[in-house]
Amino acid sequence: MSDTTFTPEGISAPILVREILPWVIFAALALLAIYFVGAEEGATSIIPGMYVHEFVHDGRHLLGFPCH
Ligand SMILES: [Zn+2]
Repeated sequence: MSDTTFTPEGISAPILVREILPWVIFAALALLAIYFVGAEEGATSIIPGMYVHEFVHDGRHLLGFPCH
């Protein structure tokens, strides 16, 4: 038999904006990087031409995104 008992505290601490802001910025930059590496080509391209695609081409193959 265990000696621990459940004692609910009731109120949890709020998450402060200054604590979560760096993670939001990191997630936004990560999603942007994933977009440019994985989907910046053809119909999903927001920058005309193949310049961005060629710039991230090695990373695209490294991460296993379909390419050619
Ligand atoms: Zn390729």
